[in-house]
Parts: sequence; C-alpha cells; structure tokens
Amino acid sequence: MSDGAIREFEVCVVGLGPTGRALAHRAVRAGLTVVAVDPRPDRLWPPTFACWIDELPEWLPPSAIAVRVPKPAVWTNAMHRIDRPYCVLSKTGLRDALPLDDATVVAGRATRVGANDVELTDGTILRAATVFDTRGLPTPRQRRAASAYGIFVDAEAAAPMVTEGEALLLDWRLTNGAGPDEPPSFLYAVPLGDGTVLFEEVSQGLRGGMPQHELRKRALSRLAAHGITLTGTESSEAAHYPLDQRPPRKGTAQAIPFGSRGGMMHPCTGYSVADSLALVDTAITALLEGRDPLADLWPWQARLTYWMRMRGLWGLGRLTAEQSAAMFDAFFNASPRGQRALLSAHDDYTALGAVLFNTVARTWPFRWRYDLVGWTNRNRWVGFDFAAADREPGRIG
Ligand SMILES: Cc1cc2nc3c(=O)[nH]c(=O)nc-3n(C[C@H](O)[C@H](O)[C@H](O)COP(=O)(O)OP(=O)(O)OC[C@H]3O[C@@H](n4cnc5c(N)ncnc54)[C@H](O)[C@@H]3O)c2cc1C
Repeated sequence: MSDGAIREFEVCVVGLGPTGRALAHRAVRAGLTVVAVDPRPDRLWPPTFACWIDELPEWLPPSAIAVRVPKPAVWTNAMHRIDRPYCVLSKTGLRDALPLDDATVVAGRATRVGANDVELTDGTILRAATVFDTRGLPTPRQRRAASAYGIFVDAEAAAPMVTEGEALLLDWRLTNGAGPDEPPSFLYAVPLGDGTVLFEEVSQGLRGGMPQHELRKRALSRLAAHGITLTGTESSEAAHYPLDQRPPRKGTAQAIPFGSRGGMMHPCTGYSVADSLALVDTAITALLEGRDPLADLWPWQARLTYWMRMRGLWGLGRLTAEQSAAMFDAFFNASPRGQRALLSAHDDYTALGAVLFNTVARTWPFRWRYDLVGWTNRNRWVGFDFAAADREPGRIG
C-alpha cells in the first residue's frame, strides 16, 4: 500500500495477535470486506497459549490444539484432579486455522486508531465502517500484573513432576525457596507435545508484578527441590502484563477494543485467548445485525462478572503463599459450575457470586478470611523490596 493512500473497508482490525487474527478471519468468513494491520502479520505468536477445551468455539478445528490433558492437577494443601479437559494450543495450528487469504493484510504500525479511520506510520489512512483495536495490552507499570518466568525442559528430565498426559496448573507447594514473608508465586507446568515440558513460576496480582530474576531463582529452586536436573541449555520465556484491563464503555464514537485490550483478559487467571476466540462471532453478528458490538459483548451480567473477578484479583495480590494454598483448596472443592464461573464463564454472575462467597467462608483458619476480603493486610506486598530480600543472609538463591 503506497504512502498517503486511502482505502475503504467494512472492517479494519488493528493488531494480529490471536484475537485480531481470529476476528479478521471470521469477519471475512461472514462476507465482510476486511483490512488487517500488524507490523509483522505472519509472525508466530511468541507465548505458549493454553485453555480449557470447552472454552474454544466450535468453528475452531482440532488442529489448533497441540496437546490435550484430560484431567489436569492442581496442588493446594493436597492434590486435586480436575475432571475437565485442558489443552495447549499449537502456534502453527492456530495460525493456520485462521487464514486471512481474502482479507487485505497490511504490514505496518498504526499511529492513530479512530472510530472509522486508522493512520499508519507511513501516512497511509485506512477507512472502515468499524475499527477493532486488538493491539494487546500496554506495559503494566504499577498496575496489578501477571509475571512469569518459563523454562522449557526435556520431557524425560521433567518426569519427577509431569509425565505424559499430565499437567500441573497450579502448584502452591512451598518448594520454591521463597520465605513466608515474601510475595508468593506458584508453578504452572504443561507438556507442549514436542518432547518438552514448560515449567513456569508465576506471580499474579502484585502491583507492578514480580521481577524476572526473582521468578527465575524460584523456578530453579523449585525444580531442584523436586529432583529435576537442568542442562543449562534450556530456553526460556517471560511474561509481564497487566491483569486489570477493564471492559470498554459502550458507544460507537470509538474504535472497539477487543481481546486482551478490550476487557477479555481474565483478572484472576491471566488468560484471554479462549474467551476472545469465543466472543469473535458475538461481535461480528452484532455488526451484521446493526447493533453496537460492545453492547452484545458486555451486557450487565458480563460487567458484573468482571467486577467480581477484580475483587478476586485484589485478594490474590495480598495473600501469603500459605493463605493462597488454603484459599485455592476451598475453591477447588467447589462445584464444577462454581469453578467454571470463576475460571471461564463470561457472564455466570450468580454462580460466581456464590463460589466467591463460599471460597471465603471455607478458607481456614478463620482469621485469614479477613485478609481475603481486605479488612486486614490490604496492602501487604505494596512496595515490597525484592532486591533487599535478595540480600538477606540464608536465603536460598
Ligand atoms: C509467556 C506468556 C504466556 C501466556 N499464556 C497464556 C495462556 O496460556 N492462555 C491465555 O489465554 N493467555 C496467555 N497469555 C496472555 C496472552 O498474551 C494474551 O492473552 C494474548 O496474547 C492476548 O492476545 P491479543 O491478540 O489480545 O494481544 P496480543 O497477542 O498482544 O497481540 C497484539 C498484536 O497487536 C500488534 N500491535 C501492537 N501495536 C500495534 C500497532 N500500533 N499497530 C498495529 N499492530 C500493533 C502486535 O504486533 C501484536 O501482534 C500469556 C502471555 C505470555 C506473555
């Protein structure tokens, strides 16, 4: 596309992460003329995405899935097996399932994203009846964040913790070397189907997140504690993004934020891909039928659900590791619907209210409930000095 060119489309999608690509793909399939912009439109997405299989939309072919785990495990004060299939998505499989052959794809960076026009760095202006802003999340700064350090370990070496067909979604055992007076982190471990297992030490809910060096140190301590020996040549991945990206307000005088940028980042789990894929057709159907997509994407039930999850995020950000284990122990004893209402469902606010209430009511010892709801230790970890903790004598490093 040449400098200064003006082109008109029905839909413009700005950002081709998994969300934008799915939106552009389904819009084309629905018969709309689509332009999609990204600085590197064909790049494979760097992160490894996973989700519950039942969250994925029916139109997505099975080839988008790399690994299926029928009953993943979580460790709280005890091991729980969740009778709900989980999966790791295939990067190439997912991209190939979302072809953009009939869309106009522009390699470029947007400098201005308006309700009906998008300006690129080279001066090109793209006009569209509807513009979706799928540029992902800004850097978190001091917002509540998810931070993770992941190591790709050979499946054989990983066997003491994760064997074939298994996954460990949440491991709160106190084996990462962090002390009780330090912000907590947990382990997430999934097989990738290519002979490696991803071990990720994760912090969720801290203001500004947890530094990478701290997560790395904890991951190494934890793996060593479980008898996993590394060669030193393993590759790694990092995550650091905000968890509190709110749903956009209704109204048509703006580009429509969608995906992680548009409130679909789950405040408590840090997942957005499956929810975004599942909501793509809601947005497109609304467009085709002449309604405001934001009204369909964010009815009050979904906004209330989001509001409650934000309470969960604040709770997560002030607990100790022992309190987190106790709280998740209560949560993973809840009914499947209750668990789903927190982990996945976009708008099941009644079940979510009930499971949040019951999780607090069943957390033991009793006094920890005050921390959960924020009556005590509300800002426990705010301003925590990781560098000073590092210098403490006797700390495992
Ligand atoms: C290591 C890691 C592991 C993760 N694991 C999971 C997981 O298991 N499950 C899950 O659901 N989520 C996971 N997440 C969160 C995940 O990143 C997001 O959920 C997901 O990437 C959001 O997709 P998105 O399409 O909304 O945004 P992004 O993936 O961030 O895509 C945004 C796109 O917009 C483009 N863009 C940015 N600025 C411009 C511009 N000015 N003009 C044009 N294009 C632009 C970018 O190039 C990019 O392609 C993980 C994140 C990380 C970092």
